[in-house]
Amino acid sequence: MKIGLEIHVQLPTRSKLFCGCSTGGDAPNSMVCPVCLGFPGSRPFLNRRALEMGVLITKFLNCKITDRIWFSRKTYFYPDLPKNFQITQYESALGFDGHFMVGEKRIGIWRVHLEEDPGRVKRVGRAGEEVSLIDYNRSGVPLVEIVTAPDLSSPAEARDFLTDLIIELRRLIGVSGEEQTMRVDANISIGEDRVEIKNITGLKNVEKGLKSEVTRQTKLLAVGKRIVRETRHYDESRGVTLPGREKEQEADYGYIGEPDLGTYRIGPLAESMVVPETPLVRAQRMQKEHGISAQAARQIVLTDWELADLFESLSRRVGGDTAMSWTMGPISSGWKVLKANTDGSWKKVTDIVEAVSEGSMSDSEGRLRIAALSGGHEIEGINNGPSTDLDGLIVRLVDQHPEVVKDFKKGNEKAANFLIGQVMKETRGQFASKVIAEKMKRELGKRV
Ligand SMILES: [Zn+2]
Repeated sequence: MKIGLEIHVQLPTRSKLFCGCSTGGDAPNSMVCPVCLGFPGSRPFLNRRALEMGVLITKFLNCKITDRIWFSRKTYFYPDLPKNFQITQYESALGFDGHFMVGEKRIGIWRVHLEEDPGRVKRVGRAGEEVSLIDYNRSGVPLVEIVTAPDLSSPAEARDFLTDLIIELRRLIGVSGEEQTMRVDANISIGEDRVEIKNITGLKNVEKGLKSEVTRQTKLLAVGKRIVRETRHYDESRGVTLPGREKEQEADYGYIGEPDLGTYRIGPLAESMVVPETPLVRAQRMQKEHGISAQAARQIVLTDWELADLFESLSRRVGGDTAMSWTMGPISSGWKVLKANTDGSWKKVTDIVEAVSEGSMSDSEGRLRIAALSGGHEIEGINNGPSTDLDGLIVRLVDQHPEVVKDFKKGNEKAANFLIGQVMKETRGQFASKVIAEKMKRELGKRV
């Protein structure tokens, strides 16, 4: 089974791709101008920010960057497209031949390009009396299109790919990550002929749509029928794919170069850009650097970026495994408060974990202290709380256990451990084990 995806992601710019209209706006047709309404004589100009975001994505996806790019008109007639053509990139793209890793698997990226979104047609009214309304607020909204090689081998893998991609893009350029910001066309072939499912919104729907197509094609092949090469769409409510309109051949679009826009040199721009570390790249680095599992690294990074910072700093002081169990345990459960505290609680937390790891503070005291910090206040004087008289308790226990004193007299220092354990149990970790041990040995020493 071979699956390839064409992914359209909305770039989070404030204005549209070829005019100054805002990309926000709720009231239909409130954000429009002669350019995005395609009035004769209006001329587009390129949004620099959108270009930069597109180039950064292309570089992140390890593509070969095209040095000089231009735009093309893709001509077709539909009410959502007032100019009767969409400005896109055809012969030229931002880049080609990249890849993206899903776990250990390398998925080829054929190309990445910029294009504008058309308007939106809404059907309203009762069945039989429906009318179509058009909202041009979407017209000219910047999209980046990412085309993968048919390297995905199951619907679940396609979903994993999209999940990981959106995680990375959210950090890289701040895409909102909502399902609506991503629209997918999926190609799938089980046998020789490939079927395209158009315009799927939402990651779950991509997986479901592909699954239902696998079922349909498998059944047809089982009874010796041929798969028809066609475009279908996924009906969410029925959970099946249905035949769509006849697919135009690329030649039908009559691509021509867009004469109102120039050519742009993006080679130097791409070279000057630094791709920041993205979450999954970071998780992979953390796995190697701190010797933790891939799953743990991913969990920390995806919980919170600053929590991962804390983990890394802890790990350098107390080692990966200890840092991991504290980070995902007591620290992450109170993380919201800890993160919001600007009075250095971050530093206090690392000091506490370090003290526990060195043995100068008991594990349960460390947990209590972190819980207290998460509650926004520190436990004051926990070592000499009025509720427990540590010295008195030790004297009482030593009195009650003359056999331990006897053993200790014989030079068996380990005999003290039993009593130390008793103290810890009774004081429920209020005191560091080191403190208890010192006091206990001193008391036993007196009896020798
Ligand atoms: Zn406009």
